[in-house]
Amino acid sequence: MPDPVPPESSTTRRGFFVGLLRLAAVGTLAGGAMALVTRRPARASNEVCINPQPRTGCRGCPALIGCGLPQALSLRELLRKG
Ligand code: SF4
Repeated sequence: MPDPVPPESSTTRRGFFVGLLRLAAVGTLAGGAMALVTRRPARASNEVCINPQPRTGCRGCPALIGCGLPQALSLRELLRKG
């Protein structure tokens, strides 16, 4: 009695699923790599706000141009957009 499913067909199906798993693995790796490349740079841990008058905020701070703290980055982006 002949085999109902030819061996080539099951190999092809298995190969399809293995290829699918490989594609998923490559996609996951590529997604992780993109997330690493596009994330915002972490600020240095030793960076602290030097504004002597914190109530004035970043607008009047002389260090605004070179500051890497999140509030300064936000203000610079806001000022750049206009
Ligand atoms: S720019 Fe803003 S965050 Fe940076 S030192 Fe000045 S007040 Fe602090």
